[in-house]
Amino acid sequence: MKVISILGATGSIGTQALEIVRQFPDRFRVAALTAHTRIELLARQIVEFSPRLAAVSDQDHASRLKALLPADTKVRIVTGEAGYQQAATLPETQMVLGAMVGAAGLLPTLSAIDAGKDIALANKETLVMAGEIVMNRAARRGIKLMPVDSEHSAIFQSMAGHSRDEIRNILLTASGGPFLKTPAADFLNITPEAALRHPNWSMGSKITIDSSTLMNKGLEVIEARWLFDVDFSRIQVVIHPQSIVHSMVTYQDGAVMAQLGIPDMKGAIAYGLSHPERLFLDIPAPDFPGIGTLTFEAPDLSRFPCLALAFQAGEAGGTCPAVLNGANEVAVAAFLEGRLPYVGIHAIISEVLSQHQIDNHPDVDEILAADQWARRTAQTLLRN
Ligand code: NDP
Ligand code: MG
Repeated sequence: MKVISILGATGSIGTQALEIVRQFPDRFRVAALTAHTRIELLARQIVEFSPRLAAVSDQDHASRLKALLPADTKVRIVTGEAGYQQAATLPETQMVLGAMVGAAGLLPTLSAIDAGKDIALANKETLVMAGEIVMNRAARRGIKLMPVDSEHSAIFQSMAGHSRDEIRNILLTASGGPFLKTPAADFLNITPEAALRHPNWSMGSKITIDSSTLMNKGLEVIEARWLFDVDFSRIQVVIHPQSIVHSMVTYQDGAVMAQLGIPDMKGAIAYGLSHPERLFLDIPAPDFPGIGTLTFEAPDLSRFPCLALAFQAGEAGGTCPAVLNGANEVAVAAFLEGRLPYVGIHAIISEVLSQHQIDNHPDVDEILAADQWARRTAQTLLRN
């Protein structure tokens, strides 16, 4: 029996993780769940999974949650950053699933690592902002850090039985998103509705927009750099619209290892939670004759400049990836609220990065300060 805490239980990853817990009640028990705004859903999850602790953003949400729960529910409700950190560090918790979206995931994940918890990490923004610190602390504490992002799970699986030193490069696949074939001129008229229509994956809104701009792939490049300790020069992005090959690793003898599957995050989530075992899942394997053709192409950086921006910020290092991420979060939110045109997302991030005075060796506080600075600067640009 593995005791887990789920940070971001009400999201796309969080709810799929709970489906796995529901399917394997003798393997997983939930100790803590956290949410931000979807309180009704959290209340239902608490009734079903009986966690000892639940964390929400503030006292208002806590009161609403309490009112929704049957009077005899035995759950301690905690709030705010301290509450999220409590959920991440409960004594009985063995593994923490980091499934919050955005920069909010960083501090709870670090607390979980410091408390010696194994981590299944979906929240890529944590590694984008502070990859070096996160990986060093995880190594020092001797914990297991399992990737949940499908590409990184694929890379991890493709590395089984091989040494890091034998790797020539990593091939990170990308579906290309809904605008893979959209002519450059039409990018001016892209609406949130169109950008939220991902061809292959159903995910939270922020990552869906990131997928459409290829910023998601850029964040994943930085995530891969830290998870697998490879230089940016050895990470290549390959567009693969069918999303069957989840990523690949090329070895020094030219052999390429890949992990394939239909696009279903439950596979990667379950593997992250259960490794080294594989669970019996009701996910069909790809129907290769039915699919017929798998295609690969290079990304078009002129229509998807966010990808190039992420490589640049990653290579610059220091506080730049945190600034890239903070500015992106603000720009994506503004686009979704109809306050910024689609092409403005890249324009805002690029301008914020160009104004940034890099700190080459930041600690966590300095990274968080850079994130806040990026958000303020992006907001100022949005107002003008
Ligand atoms: P969702 O938006 O669906 O869910 C996000 C979760 O985080 C929700 O539980 C939400 O709470 C919570 N949350 C949001 N803001 C805050 C905050 N400020 N403080 C605390 N909690 C917060 O996102 P996804 O599940 O799609 O993505 C989660 C992470 O996993 C992201 O980092 C994403 O990049 C990564 N990922 C997701 C994939 C997917 O298929 N969805 C694939 C690969 C990676 P509430 O809902 O209650 O407001
Ligand atoms: Mg991914």
